[in-house]
Amino acid sequence: MKTTIYFALTHDWELRGDGSGDIEQIQFAPMRKLLKIYAKFGARVTFLPDLMQQLSFRRLEGKHPELKRFADRWDEHVRETFLRGHDVQLHLHPQWLNAEYENGRWCLKGDWSILTYDREAAYAMIAEGRQYLENLLRPLDAAYRCVAFRAGALAAAPSDHLLKSLADLGLQLDVSTVGGLFVSHGHVQLDYRHCEETFLPFYPLMEDARKVSDKHEPIVCVPIHHFYGSRRAVTQRNLSLAWREVRRHRRGVERPGSAAPVNGRLRSEPSRIGQVYTKLILPLMKRTHFVSDTGNLNYPLMIEMLKSIREQAEASGLAELPVMLTNHPKDIRDINAIEHLLAEVSRTEGFKFITLAEMAEKLRGGAFYIRRRDNRETDNK
Ligand SMILES: [Zn+2]
Repeated sequence: MKTTIYFALTHDWELRGDGSGDIEQIQFAPMRKLLKIYAKFGARVTFLPDLMQQLSFRRLEGKHPELKRFADRWDEHVRETFLRGHDVQLHLHPQWLNAEYENGRWCLKGDWSILTYDREAAYAMIAEGRQYLENLLRPLDAAYRCVAFRAGALAAAPSDHLLKSLADLGLQLDVSTVGGLFVSHGHVQLDYRHCEETFLPFYPLMEDARKVSDKHEPIVCVPIHHFYGSRRAVTQRNLSLAWREVRRHRRGVERPGSAAPVNGRLRSEPSRIGQVYTKLILPLMKRTHFVSDTGNLNYPLMIEMLKSIREQAEASGLAELPVMLTNHPKDIRDINAIEHLLAEVSRTEGFKFITLAEMAEKLRGGAFYIRRRDNRETDNK
């Protein structure tokens, strides 16, 4: 059976994790560029703005008039996007909780993962974010509802209260999990290496979105797609990134966080060998895990992503299903590759676009299959 695949293009729209970055350059301008591309191909997509950021701008705008100007521009961009037929849903970075602003810089002190907050604090952030979006968009469309949620840093499981709070607040979809992802650094710990469902929509165990429930639940999880790149595409991509790095160093341009060039040479020369090993040799030995992030992939990898999606879709035996892609407008590497991807998807039979609000409706109405665990079967499909 040929499966119809509904692509949900989603975008985590925000400043950098530490509150830095020029909001015009890394949020407003890339959003406008993306909207032009989507208009060209008639794709309707979903933006997931970080509401904790916007609420912080609003909280301190009385003291700092420039924050009011930026927050008003933020509202305008969100409204304009919505008026063009796109969807806007909820994303939250809790590190903005009680953020301070001094000398034109943000100082974020909150913990990065909503999983570390207690029920009341997490509930309050979700409720306030949802309210802000609904207040902003309902005057444009009385039917607008905030129905989907993506956790900051994708940290959504395990938690004995997060999914319940989402459901209590009327949210229907969690779109935070990515199969195979493992993050462990100073700010975030998360382990999605053993998720029970990484492709199809599913009912989660309400305390742990990594596991599939055996019954109908008030929340449906739709995983962000991931795939494993071929050695050839991965090597090609890494070589081009390495060349870019070499050219950058020749020009004496310092990359934030990297060693500064001294007389055209790197101060920490030995670690370059380590980098070559991790970037070029290691991927040759094992397949590389990729999150299906259209801002991070080059075109050959996007084609591999589509191939992997098509194979998984055919294997599901379903007539139609949604696939979740992501994007971070602040980190887009190659906007032309995104345009080529849109051209490819829009001219392919059996490929469609869908917003998260439309997806929630199709899931509610039974048009999309939602997996639940059948304890009698061993292949748990
Ligand atoms: Zn984010």
